[in-house]
Amino acid sequence: MESKPLISIILPAYNEEENLAMAVQKIAEQTTPLQGGYRFELIFVNDGSSDRTLALLRELHQKHSDWVHFVSFSRNFGHMSALRCGYDHSRGDAVICMDADLQHPPQYIPVFLEKWREGYEIVYTTRQDDEKTGWFKRTSSRYFYGLMNRFSDVNIEPGAADFRLLDRKVVNLIRDSQETELFIRGFIPWVGFRQFAIPYKPDQRFAGQSKYTLRKMIRLALNGITAFSVRPLRIATFLGSCISGLAFAYAIYALYAHLVLKETVQGWTSVLLSVLIIGGLQLLTLGIIGEYLGRLFLQAKGRPPYIVQESTIPPKTS
Ligand code: UDP
Ligand code: MG
Repeated sequence: MESKPLISIILPAYNEEENLAMAVQKIAEQTTPLQGGYRFELIFVNDGSSDRTLALLRELHQKHSDWVHFVSFSRNFGHMSALRCGYDHSRGDAVICMDADLQHPPQYIPVFLEKWREGYEIVYTTRQDDEKTGWFKRTSSRYFYGLMNRFSDVNIEPGAADFRLLDRKVVNLIRDSQETELFIRGFIPWVGFRQFAIPYKPDQRFAGQSKYTLRKMIRLALNGITAFSVRPLRIATFLGSCISGLAFAYAIYALYAHLVLKETVQGWTSVLLSVLIIGGLQLLTLGIIGEYLGRLFLQAKGRPPYIVQESTIPPKTS
């Protein structure tokens, strides 16, 4: 009986009151036929919701105390932290994560498990966008992965989503990672192991609105780039040296013009342009350096990535 592998399914939820019951039901539809070979646990991570999410999770846990659990944060810490918390609290031999809004179709759960059984430690999905995905989401996601792959040292497949199965080995790597702002989407391609990609078409959000504001997306993008590469710093150095080279050449010309050609004051445009360009580049470079310094600062403080206020899962002893 106990030898059946335990599968954890983690769902970050931020103001998802209308979706929770449906998510449990849809997932149960997929997992019930598989119960001959697996045991399942469902872990919701309430990311500081301000609606009835927490109250509903308490109810769901009471109703299905054998397999539905939740961990609740003291405030909103963001999707990445919620995922990480899910991984930290999961006990399964394999862990599947998906969104609580049912955009990640639960029908893929059996496919994940099949591939896991075949020996893949990581089964991830790539989103095949169609017109159903909004224009903004499609474009921003394309640019994000373009930027990410150009500016960092890991290669993330476009459309890689937080909808995947990870073997316990990989989950432990995430759990033991010392990084405060771990960028899981970049961490997964970086760890290696046997990986299998499944293309999928996202469903429409079941209810409610996207919780990913533009601000959160930009944060995620900056985080992803600076977490995996120092290439932007090198680009800053490169730009800096190009500009100083040009400036040096121009300085020689300026001296020549002053001493030999005895030109009168002209060149308002060139002065203005160089001040603007160099000023702009300096600010940009400072910004890049600041971004890394900020990461170091956060890491040095060593604050936890999230704070749990309430949980139905006993804290791990090991
Ligand atoms: N989410 C979260 N914290 C946040 C924002 C989002 O836990 O600060 C969760 C949200 O509840 C959902 C998942 O992350 O389960 C994906 O968010 P959403 O559906 O809003 O993003 P989209 O599908 O539009 O990219
Ligand atoms: Mg969604």
